[in-house]
Amino acid sequence: MNEFFAALQNLNSQWLFANRINKNTIHYTIVVSGADNLLSESKEKIIETFFSDLKATFPRFKPENVEHFSLTIEKNATLMCMPTIENKRPDTGPYLDNLFLAGDWSQTGLPPTMESAVLSGKLAAERVADIYK
Ligand SMILES: Cc1cc2nc3c(=O)[nH]c(=O)nc-3n(C[C@H](O)[C@H](O)[C@H](O)COP(=O)(O)OP(=O)(O)OC[C@H]3O[C@@H](n4cnc5c(N)ncnc54)[C@H](O)[C@@H]3O)c2cc1C
Repeated sequence: MNEFFAALQNLNSQWLFANRINKNTIHYTIVVSGADNLLSESKEKIIETFFSDLKATFPRFKPENVEHFSLTIEKNATLMCMPTIENKRPDTGPYLDNLFLAGDWSQTGLPPTMESAVLSGKLAAERVADIYK
């Protein structure tokens, strides 16, 4: 694909990232979170599932053209927040006069995903602007 990333819908695979290494080689990464249904499967079966997803999305995809693949399973990659964590998430600040926090984990009122990360950056920038205006 020519795009840097794609969202794969209604499949086991969720995100596909493309990183061109050189003229002939592209490194693709498939990301799946909340993948409880895949955890009990063998490595071979999981790879087969991903290849099938790629085939469904990109009809010209040929598994035999894949030179190398690896599978990383990290059960703790994404956290599952409980409501009780809310009062433990730190505010943007400032701390120590001029230290501001930004990150999905900070107190944004949103679950710690990309939306929270973006909002946290905006909040931090606004606080900086308030102080230095
Ligand atoms: C497997 C997985 C799947 C996900 N899927 C989704 C999804 O589908 N939708 C969604 O909304 N969110 C998803 N997320 C969550 C999303 O990736 C995060 O919410 C978001 O990236 C957080 O952005 P951030 O800027 O707060 O932190 P990060 O993106 O983690 O950025 C922090 C940066 O700081 C750098 N860093 C850390 N320590 C230091 C240091 N001491 N010095 C210098 N640099 C440092 C890190 O290398 C990193 O680049 C997923 C996360 C994972 C792990």
